Amino acid sequence: MTNAFDRRSFLALAGAAGLSSLTSACATGPAGTGPRVVVVGGGFGGATAAKYLRRLDPSLRVTLVERSTRFITCPFSNSVIGGFRSLEANTFGYEGLRGHGVEVIHAEVTNIDAAARLVVLQGGEKLPYDKLVLSPGIDIKWGAQGYSEADAELAPHAWKAGPQTLLLRRQLEAMPDGGVVVMSIPANPYRCPPGPYERASLIAHYLKTRKPRSKLLLLDAKDSFSKQPLFIEGWDALYKGLIEWVPLSKDGKVTQVDAKRLTVETEFGTRHKADVLNYIPGQTAGGIVIAAGLADSSGWVPVVPQTFQSVKAPDIYVVGDATSAAPQPKSGFAANSQAKVAAAAIVASLRGQPAPDPIWMNTCYSLLSPDYGITVAGVYRVINGKIADVPGSGGISPKGASAMFRGLEASYAESWYANITQDIWG
Ligand SMILES: Cc1cc2nc3c(=O)[nH]c(=O)nc-3n(C[C@H](O)[C@H](O)[C@H](O)COP(=O)(O)OP(=O)(O)OC[C@H]3O[C@@H](n4cnc5c(N)ncnc54)[C@H](O)[C@@H]3O)c2cc1C
Repeated sequence: MTNAFDRRSFLALAGAAGLSSLTSACATGPAGTGPRVVVVGGGFGGATAAKYLRRLDPSLRVTLVERSTRFITCPFSNSVIGGFRSLEANTFGYEGLRGHGVEVIHAEVTNIDAAARLVVLQGGEKLPYDKLVLSPGIDIKWGAQGYSEADAELAPHAWKAGPQTLLLRRQLEAMPDGGVVVMSIPANPYRCPPGPYERASLIAHYLKTRKPRSKLLLLDAKDSFSKQPLFIEGWDALYKGLIEWVPLSKDGKVTQVDAKRLTVETEFGTRHKADVLNYIPGQTAGGIVIAAGLADSSGWVPVVPQTFQSVKAPDIYVVGDATSAAPQPKSGFAANSQAKVAAAAIVASLRGQPAPDPIWMNTCYSLLSPDYGITVAGVYRVINGKIADVPGSGGISPKGASAMFRGLEASYAESWYANITQDIWG
C-alpha cells in the first residue's frame, strides 16, 4: 500500500514542477561524480533521502553517516513488547542502500560547520558537502522529572527501539500475575502520537492472556489523544476493567520519577507504585541539530515548508521527528514522505530549478491486539505559506466496525510495514 501511495505522491510532486524527468533514473550502480550530498541518520527519514537522491540523480555522490550498523524500527516494537513478534523481524541493514550506490559510513557525527559546509565525525574526520540532509530523530530530555539515563535501566522508556524494548518485555514476563504496570505518557509533541496507546493495548493483550489479574494504569499529561474514540471503544471491547486511563485534568501528569522504588508522583501529589514502570519521557530533536544551532527554543527544528530546508542554513535540509512540521505527526511514514520532498528539492536546487510543489502523506496504523487494527491518515500541502491538512482528505477508521474490518486493518498494518521498510532499506 505504501509503495503505491508514495509513488503517486512522488510523481505528483515531481510532475507539479515539471521535474518528471528526474524520476526516470534508477541508480543501482556505483557512486556518482557530481555534487556531494551527505545524509546524517540512517533511520526512516535519512535512509529514504539517501536512496531517493540517488534514484533521482545517479550523478550525485551520496554519503550516509549512521552510528549503528543495524537499524531497529520503533514501528512494530510494541508487538515485541506484547510478546508476539521478534526484534529481529524489525531489524534492517544497509546493504540495500549500498546497492543503490550510497556510500554508508558508520560513525558518530559530533559537529556541523555550516559556514565551511563540513560534517565533523567523532575522531575529527571532516566530510565536505554541497547539500546536507539531517534526520537524527529524537533525544530524551534526560534529567526532567528526575529521570536519568541510569534510571532507564530500571524503568525503561523503550521509545528508541532495541535493548530498551527487550528490557520492558522481560520485565513484563517477570512480573507476577496480579501486578500493576504503570505507563507515563508525555504532553505533545513527541515521537508517534498514537504509539503509547498502541503500547498500552498490546501490554493489556499480554496481561489478559497470560496474567489476567494484573492492571495497567496510564498516567497521561494530556486530556485527549490521537484516535481516542477508537482506542476507548477497543479497550471497552477487549480489555474492560484492565486499563485505567488518567488524563491531565484528573491528575495524570507525572512530575517526579523514582526509578529505584518504581514510584511516580503526579502534579497534585498522588504517588503510584508500579511493579513494572514504563516511563515515556519528554523529547527534543536529536542532539546533533541542537549542537548545530538549528533548533529553536522549542527543542525542534523550524523548516521552510516547501523544501524542509533549515530556516537558518539553506544548504541543510532537516526531515523526520527532529522538525516542527505540524500538522504532520512525528511518524516514520511522515519522515519517509518528507525525505522524498527534500530529495526532490535538493536535486532541483542543484540544477538551478525551482523546488516542486509538494504533497505529503501519512498513515498511522495502531494495533489493539494482533488482529485488531485502526488507522488515521492525512494528506498535507503548503497552503498560505504553511504546512496544512488538505481539506476533505484523510480521516480515521470508522467507529463500530466489525471484527472482520478490524482484522483487515491489522493485516494492512503488516503490509504497510513490509512496503515501507522495503522502500527505505530495500
Ligand atoms: C513505540 C513506537 C511505535 C511507532 N510506530 C510507528 C508506526 O506504526 N508508524 C510510523 O509511521 N511511525 C511510528 N513510530 C515513529 C517512528 O519510529 C519515527 O517517527 C521515525 O523513526 C522517525 O524517523 P527519523 O528519521 O526522524 O528518526 P529515526 O528513524 O530514529 O532515525 C534517526 C537515526 O539517526 C541516527 N543518528 C542520530 N544522531 C546521529 C549522529 N549524531 N551521528 C550518527 N547517527 C545519528 C540514529 O542512530 C538513527 O538511526 C513509532 C515510534 C515509537 C516510539
